[in-house]
Amino acid sequence: MNIILFGPPGAGKGTQSKYLVNKLKNFQVSTGDILREEIKKNSDIGQQIISNMNEGKFVSDEIVNSLIENLIYDPENKDKLIFDGYPRSLSQAKYLDLLLDKSNQKIDHIFFLNVNKDTIIERIEKRKILENRKDDDSDTILKRYDTYMETTRPVLDFYSKNSNFHEIDGTKEIDQITKEIDTFINF
Ligand code: AMP
Repeated sequence: MNIILFGPPGAGKGTQSKYLVNKLKNFQVSTGDILREEIKKNSDIGQQIISNMNEGKFVSDEIVNSLIENLIYDPENKDKLIFDGYPRSLSQAKYLDLLLDKSNQKIDHIFFLNVNKDTIIERIEKRKILENRKDDDSDTILKRYDTYMETTRPVLDFYSKNSNFHEIDGTKEIDQITKEIDTFINF
């Protein structure tokens, strides 16, 4: 089963995707984690992306797409993909369709975790203390939210007409969100 978790920064995509990875024995495709790992390794890619990441700006499609391509084509991950933070733009959504098509896969569920701006700011300020991410400071949070509204939210139109698209109130408690997701994947 391939799943996309979609929503603004701080919506709880990472938390729910970890739950799903554990439950379904799937593979988490978190582009944010993959990119942070490149920075930690101080790889060529890491050096190219560090300033964009710290400033809350998108990393280029060229880099992000190249990093996920092999994961999607890997036979071990076939039909076991949980996307968290990808796709984040219409061009990425179209590219993902192409990669899935080429590898004979499809998306089984898209969960949109809908959260308002105030809740996002509150949650990310808490996360900043726990994870110490440079892109979680107050100014950067607002910039990331604006980028989400401008570039990522339009992706909803691309998916929302599909019968496998589910909007979930992401302001609820973690357990309640998990239960709601479960109703769609437990059959
Ligand atoms: P996240 O951990 O999903 O909040 O992502 C953290 C940061 O990584 C984002 O603010 C972007 O700088 C970068 N990033 C993650 N996923 C993508 C993506 N799909 N496209 C472009 N940049 C991304």
